Amino acid sequence: MVTHHNQPAFVITRFLQEERETLELGASLARVVQPGMVIHLCGDLGAGKTTLARGILSGCGVTGKIKSPTYTLVEPYTTSRLYFYHFDFYRLRQPDEWLEAGFREYFNHDSVCLVEWPEKAGPQLPQPDLRIELALAGDGRNVALRAETEAGRQCLSELQI
Ligand code: ADP
Ligand code: MG
Repeated sequence: MVTHHNQPAFVITRFLQEERETLELGASLARVVQPGMVIHLCGDLGAGKTTLARGILSGCGVTGKIKSPTYTLVEPYTTSRLYFYHFDFYRLRQPDEWLEAGFREYFNHDSVCLVEWPEKAGPQLPQPDLRIELALAGDGRNVALRAETEAGRQCLSELQI
């Protein structure tokens, strides 16, 4: 495997038996995410991307309903520690639509961006610090957490799961 860093690829894989375990993984991630991070959430419809995002957001103290941004494309959240933007690009009509909507500025040093369906957004989408892949596995889900930057690697090294 070719890596662009001197360090080896950093990947953590787990089986998540039920929804609760996806939410718990999100809560664990909530303890280690840092401002400025971009997290891509990959996997088919129903794989658990929104569930994991909900776990991260509630772990950071978001209370009340956490809507899927399916139709709005993005939902913002302010917590005591972080600003979050939760994107879902499944319904983008063209790869640049998010740029035309002015979402580029949401990717900044102060915020954490959680992006479902990043592959629909085209090449201008910022590269992730973490790429999280979810897939159906029987009644549960397989998850792979992949560090793509030093910040992402640091985050995974601190993750307690
Ligand atoms: P996506 O956003 O990837 O389309 P969702 O997060 O909406 O998927 O989840 C789809 C369904 O999968 C939900 O009903 C959710 O409760 C369920 N789910 C999430 N994680 C798990 C898991 N580890 N095992 C079983 N079902 C899960
Ligand atoms: Mg979703």
